[in-house]
Amino acid sequence: MTDTLLVFDETVTRADVEGWIQLLESAGAPTEMYRLGDTHILPVSDVDLIGRAGPELVAPTHKVLRNTEVWMGRRELRPGGTEVSLGPTTIGDGSVAVIAGPCAVESQAQTLATAAVVAEHGAVGLRGGVFKPRTSPHSFQGLQWDGLDLLAEARERTGLPVVTEVIDPEHVKRLAAVVDGLQIGARNMQNFALLTAVGQSGLPVVLKRGFGCTVDETIAAAEYLLLEGNDQVVLCERGIRSFEPASRFTLDLTAVALWKQRTHLPVIVDPSHSGGRPELVEPLSLAAVAAGADALLIDVHVEPEKALCDGNQALRPQQFADVMARLAPLAAGLGRHMSTAA
Ligand code: PEP
Ligand code: MN
Repeated sequence: MTDTLLVFDETVTRADVEGWIQLLESAGAPTEMYRLGDTHILPVSDVDLIGRAGPELVAPTHKVLRNTEVWMGRRELRPGGTEVSLGPTTIGDGSVAVIAGPCAVESQAQTLATAAVVAEHGAVGLRGGVFKPRTSPHSFQGLQWDGLDLLAEARERTGLPVVTEVIDPEHVKRLAAVVDGLQIGARNMQNFALLTAVGQSGLPVVLKRGFGCTVDETIAAAEYLLLEGNDQVVLCERGIRSFEPASRFTLDLTAVALWKQRTHLPVIVDPSHSGGRPELVEPLSLAAVAAGADALLIDVHVEPEKALCDGNQALRPQQFADVMARLAPLAAGLGRHMSTAA
């Protein structure tokens, strides 16, 4: 259904918006109010009703978007873009932010050593799965709750905010009490109960695109988070399944450009899960930043040959340092800079 959207910025008071709601109700066209941060959005089904509003309603600043559906992620609602605060790190402020770490938290030694390496070379966030959604039930499923304390310890040692994947709506509150950001994995992008629970947590979310899902389906999945009042959403391109077996998945940089054009949400690219090989991480990272990505999500492991999960795609410490060194001049050439730990 297409409507006309009345968009009120933060200078418009709730009372002014209520005035519009009453006008529409009394005209027999009740509406529902949506909120994106401090912006209020009112869909109006009959555009002629707008002309009936008195000057006291028209005067407050508002914008009219014609013939558009309510999509909270649409760029026009926040042309300047959304900034996502992950602990002390900001994603979407024009800088290039790198979140790195092991695919899975495996042990105290592995987690702390990897965290120290990624912090040393300029990562501004630490990734690490404690609940792993594995294709085979016989594969390592993560340390689960025991891994959570290790992430907290790594944050304490390095100062890096931590992001971990959540696979069950029942886990959201307990994870959110400890971590700085939640990841929704590709396999769960359309787990709507999970999206709603994560939206309600209010925590920053890395929403990974399902590898069989379209650009617009990803935007629709983000809508579940946004409708819960959580605008701290980062869209993640992590490769889609194609006919090409030479890489684990096919990195779709078109999605990066389209999401940047069509939504106000920051975009992160995962060159590790898409390429599936360490030697692809650097070229895919450079290409992602050139295509407009705000951030990168990179698998790093101090001993990839011993990794319990995805060791064949993780960068060794020196390889990670090399990628970071190549990214800095590219960012500068684009008039951007690498995000630095606050
Ligand atoms: C991950 O980031 O560890 C992961 C499981 O990724 P994806 O959901 O993209 O496969
Ligand atoms: Mn992985």
